[in-house]
Amino acid sequence: MRPARALIDLQALRHNYRLARELTGAKALAVIKADAYGHGAVRCALALEPEADGFAVACIEEALELRAAGIRGPVLLLEGFFEASELPLIVEHDLWCVVHSAWQLEAIEKSPLASPLTVWLKLDTGMHRVGLHPKDYRDAYERLLACGKVGRIVLMSHFARADELGAQATAEQIAVFETARQGLAAECSLRNSPAVLGWPQAAGDWVRPGLMLYGATPFDMPQAQAQRLQPVMTLQSRVISVRELPAGEPVGYGATFVSTRPTRVGVVAMGYADGYPRQAPNGTPVMVAGSRAPLIGRVSMDMLSIDLTDVPQATVGSPVELWGKQVHAAEVASQAGTIPYQIFCNLKRVPREYIGD
Ligand SMILES: *Cc1c(COP(=O)(O)O)cnc(C)c1O
Repeated sequence: MRPARALIDLQALRHNYRLARELTGAKALAVIKADAYGHGAVRCALALEPEADGFAVACIEEALELRAAGIRGPVLLLEGFFEASELPLIVEHDLWCVVHSAWQLEAIEKSPLASPLTVWLKLDTGMHRVGLHPKDYRDAYERLLACGKVGRIVLMSHFARADELGAQATAEQIAVFETARQGLAAECSLRNSPAVLGWPQAAGDWVRPGLMLYGATPFDMPQAQAQRLQPVMTLQSRVISVRELPAGEPVGYGATFVSTRPTRVGVVAMGYADGYPRQAPNGTPVMVAGSRAPLIGRVSMDMLSIDLTDVPQATVGSPVELWGKQVHAAEVASQAGTIPYQIFCNLKRVPREYIGD
């Protein structure tokens, strides 16, 4: 059997969820959209359900998958509905719904609903993606209350630059939110992972941690709270071939690596068809047989090569960690010019195995 695997540590997932609550003293919706950032939404939800205050997903399709698996707790649709025809299903399955645009508000007003909705009313505090304009916010809140179809409203917004520690933009977004919500007697939610870890001054009754649950830092610099996270996914495989090359020999497609010394080359069963980034350059670290070794040559679809010259104990069959508890996904992502969010979401083909249940 091909040895490529993604090992998912559910104990680490619970540790990170608890950390989000401990750091904020708030209720936390575990963000498990996009199949829990590649970690498997149903398994992650089942592991967290006994203690989680609720979950958040991108769309009703993702929410129904959780309901079908027996998840009974609150599930928030982060983009609400995409067409009004989803509203009866949202009610039937007791889902919570973001309202981020005027057309959604109008659709709720026009829909006959069997029972009242829980709405998270989104304010655009400066990201300018979705969310109501501050001048329309109070009116939207009052219309929702008045239409008789909404039982509960949570006020929310989303940060554009919370991963930039100390960025003035986040302080400004908080100020816009505080002004817009004055006099509205409702719970609030602002914080994503970087804000949970790095913005204690952004208060709120609810937080929405995603990336941090999976144990990766959203910051591109060391940060004290992020260092307390435990990586959840270990992307692992084995060395399947070893060869010795003299100096001056190319390795892989395009000869993007040429040996400068006699080199012991190991080949690992892992490639971009598994989600390992093809953009990872020469020198990107992997752990092999307990030591760090550099990636060499271009990542191909099913295999990649590493330099084993300084890892004499590594042989065919040696275990390789592409990312996990020793080589952090954020480090690999940064080498590849992307972010851990994307390399997690890109995971495919490799079977997932769960531990710590
Ligand atoms: C995805 C998402 C989150 C989670 O963000 P992380 O940076 O992964 O913690 C929180 N809130 C909203 C609205 C989102 O879309």
